[in-house]
Amino acid sequence: MYDYLIVGAGLFGATFANLAKASGKSVLVIDKRDHIAGNVYSKKIENINVHVYGAHIFHTNNKEVFDYLSKFTTFNRFTNSPVANFKGELYSLPFNMYTFNKMWGIITPEEAFKKIKEQKKKAGIVNPKNLEEQAISLVGTDIYEKLIKGYTEKQWGRSCKELPPSIIKRLPVRFTYDNNYFNALYQGVPIGGYTKMVEKMLDGIEVRLGWDYLKDKSYYDSLADRIVYTGPVDAYFNFSLGALEYRTVRFENEVLETDNYQGNAVVNYTDIDTPFTRIIEHKWFEFGLDENGNDIPKSVVSREYSQEWKQGDEPYYPLNDTKNSELYNKYKELASLEEKVIFGGRLAQYRYFDMDAVVAQAISIFKQYC
Ligand code: UDP
Repeated sequence: MYDYLIVGAGLFGATFANLAKASGKSVLVIDKRDHIAGNVYSKKIENINVHVYGAHIFHTNNKEVFDYLSKFTTFNRFTNSPVANFKGELYSLPFNMYTFNKMWGIITPEEAFKKIKEQKKKAGIVNPKNLEEQAISLVGTDIYEKLIKGYTEKQWGRSCKELPPSIIKRLPVRFTYDNNYFNALYQGVPIGGYTKMVEKMLDGIEVRLGWDYLKDKSYYDSLADRIVYTGPVDAYFNFSLGALEYRTVRFENEVLETDNYQGNAVVNYTDIDTPFTRIIEHKWFEFGLDENGNDIPKSVVSREYSQEWKQGDEPYYPLNDTKNSELYNKYKELASLEEKVIFGGRLAQYRYFDMDAVVAQAISIFKQYC
């Protein structure tokens, strides 16, 4: 009998397990996959840490979270500066003076501001009601048409008119020459990879891989006083109220006999005709160097395709539209009645979570219960 059975060895599960163990509780972590680290799992291919479930760049303003994770890893100084490729025209991201200069040939913030104001006025937007209106009011129609519309519609499989403004608010808009994608105080990628970091978090904790909680729930429930469940909330309740919808992502990975394919970690393809949303060249998260500081002669790239999720696919992005949010709220009520179970993380709380928010939530829930 354990104090805690933790279902899922991703960031939420690993944080909770680590804190519980440190406070003297007995803990068993299980995961149905054959590896730890959930979607931040990284795997070495050709001496490059490949982000197997998509690029993860850690960024946070939360010092407690940063200090906590820094006990298990050292973050390098990687700064995310994606490049947008629109039919061969390259633009800087996030939207900043470099983007405005390339788009309109303007030089000063005042000129950029004026241009955006004109375009917003012409589009007749006062109170933005959807992502399209929000985007135009932030950066004008030209940038919306070339850098936002196609990318967003490929990523979400829906028209920008049907999507909430909140999605685009994740991105900073700057009237300075600054290509840093995030405004966070702390940013980087764990040296040696995310898997190594999570391994350290789970150090000394019993972990069983290939154990599927939902396949034999009553048996697993009998193993511990409390369950920490980090899987999909609808699956926990056997989809009794219906299935929540997600976007899933498919990656086409390729090992290349070149040492530099695209010159940047992330290149977004923002037109609607290119079928993938972005190409990740993993070595650049660690400056093209191996763990001994040597140049790596090859490269690994992943083309990322966004698709509608169906049963059996990996759930990635929750679709927090009205219909799904209402359904989630009903599951949340059911979850609150499960006295023995703590529901935490992206899938159990059906939220578009950044990594730091997941860790912060695990710390806060742990403090609440233990
Ligand atoms: N976005 C965009 N063009 C880009 C990059 C991002 O329009 O080149 C918008 C788009 O609406 C997207 C959102 O910003 O859904 C968040 O994108 P990001 O790539 O940051 O999401 P991630 O998948 O990394 O969480």
